[in-house]
Amino acid sequence: MIKRTGNHCVYLLFERLSQAHGLRHGVFTRQGGHSSPPFDGLNVATTTGDDPASARRNQQVIASELGLPLISARIAHGCDSCVIERATPDEPLEELRARTRQTVADAMITTETGLGLFWGFGDCAPILLYDPHHRAIALAHGGWRGAAGAIGPRTVDAMRERFGSRPEELIAGVGPAIQSCCYQVSDAVYDAFQRDPRARDNASFIQRADENGASSLYLDVTESNARQLLAAGVRPDHLDIAPHCTGCAADLFYSHRKRPHADGRFGVVIGLAG
Ligand SMILES: [Zn+2]
Repeated sequence: MIKRTGNHCVYLLFERLSQAHGLRHGVFTRQGGHSSPPFDGLNVATTTGDDPASARRNQQVIASELGLPLISARIAHGCDSCVIERATPDEPLEELRARTRQTVADAMITTETGLGLFWGFGDCAPILLYDPHHRAIALAHGGWRGAAGAIGPRTVDAMRERFGSRPEELIAGVGPAIQSCCYQVSDAVYDAFQRDPRARDNASFIQRADENGASSLYLDVTESNARQLLAAGVRPDHLDIAPHCTGCAADLFYSHRKRPHADGRFGVVIGLAG
């Protein structure tokens, strides 16, 4: 990934998406920002313990850096997507943002320009999709529940149905998430992946001894989501995968599982320039 230092922020770009004309995106690290310890510094979550004013300032840092107002649906750890579009061509941005905030979805798709699809992440994989042919984008939230429900392929399906997107034309990035080095899971998580063949056949579980010597199950959230995209028809040479484990990379990312005392979220944005 390509590292960029901005005003009060440091962020990463996927190489392939960074080459797309008129597309802006960023995986923002926790570096920079205005939050005090233990949330230092660019935490975007207003509801996990940090001073909400600091988190909102940090969201402003991100919006200013990319030159896009941010828009977010309400995450529910499900697999549904929503289409972000103005109700009428002159619908004010604030009304669109307010409507979207009331919409429950774990993937946002749009062809609207001048908007940054935005969520905070803290172990779940951000999935970014760009269809250069139809000028359509998506941001999906691929935590273990999302991955167990094949949210990546479902979002590809939603883009196909709505915009005519073809998987082989998509440019994709799977961002930092918690990996098998850090993420011990229960049998219930394993079982959840068995219900959808797209999830089951691409899941990245490993079995190894835990600190007590007992055999335990570990999940790689990044890899599971990435494999699902490939199985859905995204070309390997159109896909970038972040190498970072959020559990390991404490200087760069928040981790709900590994650092619950500093339960922030790092911001991820994708948007079409106006
Ligand atoms: Zn790790």
